Amino acid sequence: MTKKTFIRSVLVAPKEIRFEEVPIPTPGPGQALVQVKACALCTWEQRVYAGVDTSVYPLLGGHEVSGIVAEVGPGLQVKVKPGDHVVAARLYRCFQCTSCRRGLDNICDNAWQNRQVGEPAGPGGLSEYMLVDGYQIYPVSSDVPFTESCLSEPVSCVLRSIKKAQVEPADNVVIIGAGIMGLLHLMLTKRLGARVFVSEPNPVRAAKALEMGALATIDPSKENFTERVKELTGGRGADVIFAAIGVASAIEEAIKAVGKGGRLMVYASVHPRGSMITIDPNLFHNKEIVLTGTVSQDSEDFLQAVALLSSRSINLQPLISKVFPFSQLREALEAALNGNNYRVIVTM
Ligand SMILES: [Zn+2]
Ligand SMILES: [Zn+2]
Repeated sequence: MTKKTFIRSVLVAPKEIRFEEVPIPTPGPGQALVQVKACALCTWEQRVYAGVDTSVYPLLGGHEVSGIVAEVGPGLQVKVKPGDHVVAARLYRCFQCTSCRRGLDNICDNAWQNRQVGEPAGPGGLSEYMLVDGYQIYPVSSDVPFTESCLSEPVSCVLRSIKKAQVEPADNVVIIGAGIMGLLHLMLTKRLGARVFVSEPNPVRAAKALEMGALATIDPSKENFTERVKELTGGRGADVIFAAIGVASAIEEAIKAVGKGGRLMVYASVHPRGSMITIDPNLFHNKEIVLTGTVSQDSEDFLQAVALLSSRSINLQPLISKVFPFSQLREALEAALNGNNYRVIVTM
């Protein structure tokens, strides 16, 4: 390799990005060096950039990331070679803690324990290169554009959510929020044969949900959410409700609209942290409702997401709003914060 250094970005303070030139590392045993080609800007990076989440500075952001294998370290057991297209699952898992051993590697007890002393922490996909451990590497078909394959991560999170909510064919599903995560839930539950409704006050987003196959939309700012759900489901209530927005009051309202034996999935993290809700416990007793949630994805969810993309069985193009070069990361993050955009991606 002729190039000796690369550029990485560090989120250092609200609205402050530092670009650093650092040496290109050599992959150690069981690792690969990946040349990053595309990285999508998730809500987490947006919150850190905007100063809503200030607990993690300095942060090497970027966990929705795709690229090309540049160099393979000794003993790497994933079957890849330089030039192969890959997606990287950037969240650290130890596979040794109790959570990992119980199959909950999405909530590894040591997720933040791999910091290198003196180095900023974080997934580091907003860089020209990154070192990845074998378990984080997923080969992807070279037919998939990097701007789509980097979205394997959000797809894998939604797959986990849908599996855990046990969506069945013909289930009445209500998705609260038509942001990218809501629309991914719409796309993937429709594939299972569900009847899908979307609750969204923003008329532009609601129209997009209808375009992408929602049977009807609900405007919770104008209509009574629970009554409207009952009306749409023949009086029964929803079999599954996904809360794809992090608003406590929406979850409190949604539980009333879940039908007998139904599930309410708290998908999005709720802000501000520490928000509380009040629920009539007899809803669980009388209607056997399940209230649950998910975060991130486990290794199997990621594998399935990459397979879905590799076989080109889902089209993510409608969810990509803008693509910026890496040098315009600031402009890209500003665009991502604009509520009318879905995913904004930077390319290297
Ligand atoms: Zn993400
Ligand atoms: Zn672990």
